[in-house]
Amino acid sequence: MTTALAPAMSLEGFREAARAWLAEHAPQRAALRDPDDVSVFHNLDFETETKILDTLRDWQRTKHDAGYAALNWPVELHGAGLPTEYADAFKAEESAVVSLTRHELFSVTVNLIAPTIRLYGSDALKSLLLPGLLDGSLLACQLFSEPGAGSDLANVATRAVRDGDDWVVSGQKVWTSGAQFADWGQAIVRTEPGSSRGRGLTSLMIPMSAPGVEIRQIRQMSGGTSFNEVFLSEVRVPDAYRLGDAGDGWAVTRATLGFERANASNKNGVGGQFDQLLELARRTGALEHRDVRLQLAEVRMREVAAEVAQHREKQARDTGRAPGATGSMRKLQWVTKLALVSELARTLLGERLVADTGERGTFSWTAHVLGAPGYRIAGGTDQIQRNIIAERHLGLPPEPRPGASTTAGGAR
Ligand SMILES: Cc1cc2nc3c(=O)[nH]c(=O)nc-3n(C[C@H](O)[C@H](O)[C@H](O)COP(=O)(O)OP(=O)(O)OC[C@H]3O[C@@H](n4cnc5c(N)ncnc54)[C@H](O)[C@@H]3O)c2cc1C
Repeated sequence: MTTALAPAMSLEGFREAARAWLAEHAPQRAALRDPDDVSVFHNLDFETETKILDTLRDWQRTKHDAGYAALNWPVELHGAGLPTEYADAFKAEESAVVSLTRHELFSVTVNLIAPTIRLYGSDALKSLLLPGLLDGSLLACQLFSEPGAGSDLANVATRAVRDGDDWVVSGQKVWTSGAQFADWGQAIVRTEPGSSRGRGLTSLMIPMSAPGVEIRQIRQMSGGTSFNEVFLSEVRVPDAYRLGDAGDGWAVTRATLGFERANASNKNGVGGQFDQLLELARRTGALEHRDVRLQLAEVRMREVAAEVAQHREKQARDTGRAPGATGSMRKLQWVTKLALVSELARTLLGERLVADTGERGTFSWTAHVLGAPGYRIAGGTDQIQRNIIAERHLGLPPEPRPGASTTAGGAR
């Protein structure tokens, strides 16, 4: 990494330098998100989605080369070694001027899998993967869920058998976001035959191009194919690609799920936004209606509540306190907001939402309405988040859990 950052720069000095750098390097208008886009999931062909990922990779690489990509990571792990406030300050400045089309796989790579490798990878694995994961040249997906293991993730049945220096992995994963574009997958597999629940599981990084990996796309009701089934047939994975100890994969996976929950509502820009709803209400002449104004206020309040929860989490982090169930609370706030946005879009558009008349900004809202329910499931369902809040935040008695090696919720 070539860094443009002076080591002892004050936060204010850093902010100014970042602002000046962004003014010079931020992606041009052509690469920015379409202002009419209200989709929750992409409904695009493979080539278009690849282009979106390429734009994100280019931007990540530009930031990386200037030292802005992993600001609060240690220097020896390809970061800038700065305190978290610097990373937060850069993110704030960046989001004020850069609004690229998002892609779930990118955020899974950078926010979930890279930090897990940082915690649990061997030095050799960190050297192999972290530079590429942080500079955007490698993408990684999450191979956790299976047909019989979702909320109850400890029920994983995909098995891996040791053979010399390799593991031989067989089984099926499902709902794997972005697997068709990923270079690597973080998998949880059962390595101790006869073990159950969270015991006897191991976490492996699997190259998605390895012989025996077959990816089949799943078509969603909103049109796109954001996620996939991944079939693993006797895939040979070197033991050197293991995360954590053999048999300790549950702890590794829980760390990734923790990063996922913490990240779950940092998804500004997913689906229809308050400003877009406001514009729609004006355009449809509904802004004067009392009920519409109340619904708009409700959406905005949810956004503010999510910001407050984010602020609380940051405070907990800055003062070294465990964030507890705040990630679950934020996620619930966020998905509730997504549902309210759907409700208001339905109110404002009526039958124009279901019939494509070609009129701008009408039928296109189906991309929000049909996509939003997916996030009530992804990353731990609403019910699981409520269980976590009940047990960890409110201290209510835990629900009965057979073979209790698991955490609140189902196992997730
Ligand atoms: C958009 C999207 C992206 C995803 N991406 C990925 C990915 O990249 N990688 C990956 O591994 N997985 C991914 N998933 C899968 C996701 O993690 C699972 O769908 C989720 O954990 C729920 O599991 P399930 O679908 O098996 O439902 P189930 O666990 O079978 O749940 C069915 C219903 O039962 C309820 N339920 C289950 N247990 C309890 C309980 N203890 N208490 C109360 N209610 C309960 C649930 O809330 C739900 O309503 C994705 C899912 C979606 C929707």
